[in-house]
Amino acid sequence: MSASEQIRGSVLDITARVECGGCGGHFRVNIDPAGKTPEGWTIFDKAVDAVRGGDAVRINLSGQANPKSCDDGSSSVQHGWLLCGACTRKVDDAVEEDRNATAAEIERALEV
Ligand SMILES: [Zn+2]
Repeated sequence: MSASEQIRGSVLDITARVECGGCGGHFRVNIDPAGKTPEGWTIFDKAVDAVRGGDAVRINLSGQANPKSCDDGSSSVQHGWLLCGACTRKVDDAVEEDRNATAAEIERALEV
C-alpha cells in the first residue's frame, strides 16, 4: 500500500491475546486502531501498552489446548510482568503503599 493510496472504510478493532506472566491464563486487550504509534514502536509494544492501560477482557477459550481464561479487570505491566486483572489485584493487595511493587514483592504475591 502506498502512502498516497486512498483507503475507504475503517479499521474498527484490533485486539491482542495475552498470556498472564503470573497465572498463565489468557486475556485480551483492545488496541486503539486510531491511536498514534510512537516512532519505532511495533504492534507488540502497542499490545504491552494496552495491557498497561488496564482493560483486560475475559475470553472464551473452550475447545483450545489451554482453556484457562482470566477474569475481566484492570491488567497491568509491573517490572516487565504482563498481569491479568486477578494477578494485578493480588500484587496491589500485597503492597499497601501507593507505589509500584518490587520484583520480589510480585513473586511473593503471585507465589511463583
Ligand atoms: Zn494472571
